[in-house]
Amino acid sequence: MRTVYVSEYPAIQHAHGPSDMVTVRLKRQGGEWRAICAGCDTEFVYRKPQKSTVRHFQSPLLPNVKGNFDAGDDH
Ligand SMILES: [Zn+2]
Repeated sequence: MRTVYVSEYPAIQHAHGPSDMVTVRLKRQGGEWRAICAGCDTEFVYRKPQKSTVRHFQSPLLPNVKGNFDAGDDH
């Protein structure tokens, strides 16, 4: 089985053939998000995008936390 690192989440789309797109969903295992596709014998491992690209990103899924995520950084 080969291992492929991806930055997509929570589902990985990949092709098994020219007209055969397959979607697998990541599952948390041992502190990492992984998805195994038996169809092409591949394990997908999620890797976060580089931190510099997600600076100040606020997830809409998280509750509104009062903190210092944004405040003060621009001064
Ligand atoms: Zn596959």
